[in-house]
Amino acid sequence: MAMALPDRKNWLTPDWRPHPRVRALVTNRHGKFSPPPWHGFNLGSNCGDDLERVAQARAHVHRQIGSEKPPHWLIQIHGVRVVRFGDADRRADGAYTSRSGEPCVVLTADCLPVLMARQDGSAVGAFHAGWRGLLDGIIEQGAGQLAPAGEPLSVWLGPAICQRCYQVGDEVRAAFLNHDPAAATQFLADGPGHWRMDLFGLARQRLQAAGITEVQSGDLCTHCLQNDYYSYRRDGQTGRFATLIWLKD
Ligand SMILES: [Zn+2]
Repeated sequence: MAMALPDRKNWLTPDWRPHPRVRALVTNRHGKFSPPPWHGFNLGSNCGDDLERVAQARAHVHRQIGSEKPPHWLIQIHGVRVVRFGDADRRADGAYTSRSGEPCVVLTADCLPVLMARQDGSAVGAFHAGWRGLLDGIIEQGAGQLAPAGEPLSVWLGPAICQRCYQVGDEVRAAFLNHDPAAATQFLADGPGHWRMDLFGLARQRLQAAGITEVQSGDLCTHCLQNDYYSYRRDGQTGRFATLIWLKD
């Protein structure tokens, strides 16, 4: 099966340099390792794929990045809990570390992967922000753990569903406006009871409010880029790709 496994040269290295110690990588669905409906390279263990095959794919990611330890794969629950790398309880939507060789990772298929790094290169984290987690404060939780004294952070926003592709109902918009009326600018009317929501824009607003201004985005849409990324909205049962961050010595 080795030929069917993808090489990291085909994955996305973000054009983002918060500090020389920081490494980041985004996998994609290229390759023929996972059969339909996950076809490509699925890393999700909660989307119906064979768990042994997923374990092999995850081991392949570890080999490709060559980190001392394997990535700390989470059991994501659309919450706001953030754990330190290696925490025994993996039910969380973000992880962080201050040690080298410890890759933090989130899995997504439309939700927004958020990478954060201390600008002095002393800590990094990866966070999963769907609309629910974003609303409930996953970004604030992540920033609070990584920079408890407000140390400067740099942030990168990974591939997620774009505003043009992301329709939501009145209740989602109302929940965001209830938290902050300024969120209204991130919703475009799309017929009665429906809106087009900008997940990237809402994340930027939350970061700005938290005092984080060094924010870059890959500006990549999972739903538009069918050949590259998994999209739950587009495909229903499908795979998950990984967004990783770690520190080198
Ligand atoms: Zn799109």
